[in-house]
Amino acid sequence: MPRSRPAAASSPCARACGALPRRALLLGLAGLTLPAHAPAAEPEVVVVDAAGARLELQFAPGFDAPLRAAVQAWVRRSADAVAGYFGRFPVPQAEILIVPVDGRGVRGGTAYAEPSLLLRLRLGRDATPAELLDDWIMVHEMVHLAVPRVPRPQNWLHEGVATYVEGVARVQAGLSTPQRLWGELVRGMPHGLPREGDRGLDLTPTWGRTYWGGALFCLLADVQARRRSGGRAGLQQALQGVLAAGGHYGVDWPVARILEVADTALGQTTLTELHALMGRCPAAVDLTALWQDLGVEPRGPAEAALHDDAPLAPLRRAIVG
Ligand SMILES: [Zn+2]
Repeated sequence: MPRSRPAAASSPCARACGALPRRALLLGLAGLTLPAHAPAAEPEVVVVDAAGARLELQFAPGFDAPLRAAVQAWVRRSADAVAGYFGRFPVPQAEILIVPVDGRGVRGGTAYAEPSLLLRLRLGRDATPAELLDDWIMVHEMVHLAVPRVPRPQNWLHEGVATYVEGVARVQAGLSTPQRLWGELVRGMPHGLPREGDRGLDLTPTWGRTYWGGALFCLLADVQARRRSGGRAGLQQALQGVLAAGGHYGVDWPVARILEVADTALGQTTLTELHALMGRCPAAVDLTALWQDLGVEPRGPAEAALHDDAPLAPLRRAIVG
């Protein structure tokens, strides 16, 4: 698949599906059908100790040995990037189920919280190591593990954090470049703007408002927090504070609690204030002015030229560390 941020059909990040037995999940989502009384193919399980976490990597049948080895490296690399952003891997252990599909590339992912923390990734049998090196979906799914589950109508916070933090974490880990990160944000953020008839983020659960409206909330929070802290602290430190307070994907928290805890970590009220502006009302955002202030100039389909003489350029640089 082309390298693009979450699309409605290609990255359905579902909430926990607790009623679905794990075995049905594996078989059904692998596209396997078993005749009655036939022995079931069991997944190959490899325990990967990555970034201080115990990750149980489960391969549904259908991958060759070289690709399984490349997947282990992909998991470690992604876990390191997420741990770099949050200060540690968000949870001590999780399962990662890799399900084969025809073709190449990483085809989508989903995070589940029940009955245990599980990330399910669909991977082409013909995927190459280069495609795994360029992938963003594994990091996106792992970022979900760092945020408490929220009421479904407010899933914009979950998907917004995953969409925004994934790119920043990959730049910080050396897996992408600032030019590419900002280029992708310029390309994606318009999807998050309110359309005619839209209400606030809490009341408009469309794809664009959920993924990119949430990401826009994160960007605005990051910029404002860093403006108030002189660049020292932003969304990264706020989310680390949530994790330190026991917030992760294994627990349910109201959005207000997540934002209050994040604000407390910053010694600010930035996120709560922003939620008051964007949660119930379709707050307009002048993206053109924002990119100019940050010194971000679009170049091509997913790149940007970055200008250090822009007024908020120091904040832009602080965001990626
Ligand atoms: Zn997601």
